[in-house]
Amino acid sequence: MTSEPEELAARVRTVAREAGASAVAIAAARRDGVTETRLREAFARGDFATWHYDDAYAARATSPQSILPGARSVICVAVAYATRARSRALPLQGRVSNYAWSHDYHRRVRGILEPVAAALDAFAGEPATRIVCDTTPFAERAFAARAGLGWIGKHTNLIAPKIGSFVFLGEIVTTLLLTPDAPLTKSCGSCRRCVDVCPTGALRGDATIDARRCISDLTQRTDAVPISLRPLMGTWVWGCDLCQEACPPTQRAGFAADAAFAPQDDARAQPDLPALLRLRSSRFKREFRATAMGWRGAAVLRRNAAVALGNTLDRAAVPVLAQALEDDPHPLVRGHAAWALGRIGSPAAVAALRERHAREGDAQVRDEIAAALGAMETFTGAQALELGRASSAV
Ligand code: SF4
Repeated sequence: MTSEPEELAARVRTVAREAGASAVAIAAARRDGVTETRLREAFARGDFATWHYDDAYAARATSPQSILPGARSVICVAVAYATRARSRALPLQGRVSNYAWSHDYHRRVRGILEPVAAALDAFAGEPATRIVCDTTPFAERAFAARAGLGWIGKHTNLIAPKIGSFVFLGEIVTTLLLTPDAPLTKSCGSCRRCVDVCPTGALRGDATIDARRCISDLTQRTDAVPISLRPLMGTWVWGCDLCQEACPPTQRAGFAADAAFAPQDDARAQPDLPALLRLRSSRFKREFRATAMGWRGAAVLRRNAAVALGNTLDRAAVPVLAQALEDDPHPLVRGHAAWALGRIGSPAAVAALRERHAREGDAQVRDEIAAALGAMETFTGAQALELGRASSAV
């Protein structure tokens, strides 16, 4: 590599693109006080839901120096991952966010960053880099925007020109001086499609998000999903792509990603919900452990399958939900299966709930069963009232 900051930057771009990066840009490694303040405000509002961050996290995530003392440049890469459109879902199929269709992406993104870091280390004659890929606190979207890699959309994801927002981000923080790129002047303008399409109202329209309402976050929490939000989750069992699928720059970008991100089979993108509700440890390890869906464990996926089955409103889901209510070892899953049976509300679902209520040993699951039965009685009573009014009006 050459020594001039501009030539070094040009060489980095070439090596990164040869390694598989879709776009590369460079930011100065200055502390980002604006983003630090925004993060603190977001923490204070509770925007990060069950993720427990504090002011020290905000300071660290916005200071490249805290990642690598003496840092002078941050190399930001985007790797496009959308390989094809989602197929039309069959009955009792769930939906998985595009980013989790293939093997866990961290290894692939690191594989793109490593040759760049190795070249810089060799040029410096000593370790001069640190790779960042999601596992270290770092405000990667803010630095990517500062580098001109794209802009942060109202859906809070980075939108790279001609590539869209279905991108993985990775960074190399380095003590070497590289000529930085300028931020883009682009923005979402008056578009609000992502805000309008979000079923839970998680997006505020100012590029902030209330993760407590975000379907993607709800599918990844480990405790009970708030009952009021369950009907709004549709059939998503891991993540949610609604805001990005509605995004015009992302739609225009199309599908040109690395084949390594293609789903190994349709079941990965659109899993069979009854099979997912029956998922046990050995199949989980075999099929999900190495994917981005694997880190919360099998019970969380079964819980999500129960909610999705409830939202299908399909009576064909009742037997498998009744079975889960009867014998799933995890109270979290039994409780959500109870809710799903109540949402479907067929005579067989009611019978399963009543029958289990007498024998259920877990107090929270009993509460879920009682709530499911109670909600149906309220619904039935309201319907009866409506019917009574209708018949007296005839
Ligand atoms: Fe911005 Fe529109 Fe995309 Fe939302 S859908 S991120 S408002 S361009």
